[in-house]
Amino acid sequence: MKQPRIIENSPLARLARLKLGAPNVAMVLGRSIHLSGVSRDDFLRDPFWVAHEMEHIRQFEQYGRLGFLVRYLRDWARYGYYNIPFEVAAREAAERNAPLYAQGKPLPGHAERHPTPKANEQARKG
Ligand SMILES: [Zn+2]
Repeated sequence: MKQPRIIENSPLARLARLKLGAPNVAMVLGRSIHLSGVSRDDFLRDPFWVAHEMEHIRQFEQYGRLGFLVRYLRDWARYGYYNIPFEVAAREAAERNAPLYAQGKPLPGHAERHPTPKANEQARKG
């Protein structure tokens, strides 16, 4: 698979971060992964996170930029962020494909993994 482009300190990812209330965000647009609040190196150290974003890149390839964005925003309004089918599929892909991105290292435990926004929300609620 072609290597995606990784953009650190992305203003678009920063907007998503504010919208989601998350400390750090990775966001795919086309074949690029936009980061905010996390460095490229720290992002690449979490194979579950990388596998999640790689699934979004696959979805962009399948539906096209416009097709992806229209479905994504429509489903966000309909179901809420956590239940967007593209997000559900990306979370499943993360569990399935993380070993592909572990670079020979053991997979990180739950505490070392990037939490989903939903998990953040639950943590805040205690
Ligand atoms: Zn996602």
